[in-house]
Amino acid sequence: MGGFGSGRGQGGKDTTSAMQTLDIRRLQRDGLLDPGRAFGWQWTRNGEQVASIQIRTEVDRVMLSYRSRNNGGEWQPMEYPVDLEWTPCHLGGRRAWFRCPASGCGRRVAILYGGTIFACRHCYHLVYESQREAEDDRARRLAEKIRRRLGWPAGIANPDGGKPKGMHWRTFERLTAAHDAWAEASLAGVVKWLASMQRRQRGVCDGAGGW
Ligand SMILES: [Zn+2]
Repeated sequence: MGGFGSGRGQGGKDTTSAMQTLDIRRLQRDGLLDPGRAFGWQWTRNGEQVASIQIRTEVDRVMLSYRSRNNGGEWQPMEYPVDLEWTPCHLGGRRAWFRCPASGCGRRVAILYGGTIFACRHCYHLVYESQREAEDDRARRLAEKIRRRLGWPAGIANPDGGKPKGMHWRTFERLTAAHDAWAEASLAGVVKWLASMQRRQRGVCDGAGGW
């Protein structure tokens, strides 16, 4: 079941906050984990449905089914089980957990993040971090390339220079606008990533019995 996360598109401005999340606490609270149930689960943005899956419950596991596609390719039907685990609560009753279905993971988690497959934030963190770096690097490289062309000092943190002799003003303006956009994009990626890290860290201690 490799290749998860690759379905997020080439533009890739997504962070985990933009992903579909499946929170087992919500399913449990709504009484949806009893074996033998089947229901749809959907995600909306601005009132419009952006994704949906079908969930079927069995004893100690749920079957997820949905369609997925990579980078605008053919839609593929996806169906696989996610094991459930139960831990006792301090005040009686029991609490449900997902076992992350990504191969080689199996971590006990409350939330699965949907891409091509649903997996835990640990699994996605690896993918997202490398994607994020690739995107930021690309933006930074493009900004640096323009700085070289303008004869400005290397490094987007350094002050910008002026217009090189002999360059048309129109060209100069076009290049500085592009430079600013790429420099900003490479910084925005870092800011976004920090924000998503903070959100995730807040989520770590919200449950009893670890994760
Ligand atoms: Zn995982």
